[in-house]
Amino acid sequence: MLCPRDNSILVMPNESDKSVFSRNGISHCPSCAGLAINSHSATSEFCSDKLEVMHDGFKDEGTPVSLCCPFCQSDMKVRDFAFRKMDGSLTELIEIDGCPNCSSFWLDAGELQRLSPPSGDADTSPSSEAGTLAIVFDLLFHLPFVLI
Ligand SMILES: [Zn+2]
Ligand SMILES: [Zn+2]
Repeated sequence: MLCPRDNSILVMPNESDKSVFSRNGISHCPSCAGLAINSHSATSEFCSDKLEVMHDGFKDEGTPVSLCCPFCQSDMKVRDFAFRKMDGSLTELIEIDGCPNCSSFWLDAGELQRLSPPSGDADTSPSSEAGTLAIVFDLLFHLPFVLI
């Protein structure tokens, strides 16, 4: 499976040593740290169900983009979404690409980086950066999300 941005070979969830990838069904790009998320790859039923709900928001809605789904090669769509925090307010908007055909999503590294504090480590490799971003996603995904 290839990264839709730079055609690097994606690291599959079960090839990673971090359970956060398999729990959420996250493959990651070793060169741009983008995350490809698929509901059928998620080992957690909670995550898989939630990803299916998110997928419903891409079937008939969303703006078509020239990005190829890494799982089924359909043209993806883009939508903004946010998570509702404990105090009821919403996080900053995150742009997510979703496949209208299969329940897959693409998150550019920069989208989640905006919501995570800088690691302060200047020479972080894309793979360890992807690990950090997967943890951020895992934490946020326990909150209710809103598709804008
Ligand atoms: Zn990439
Ligand atoms: Zn697809």
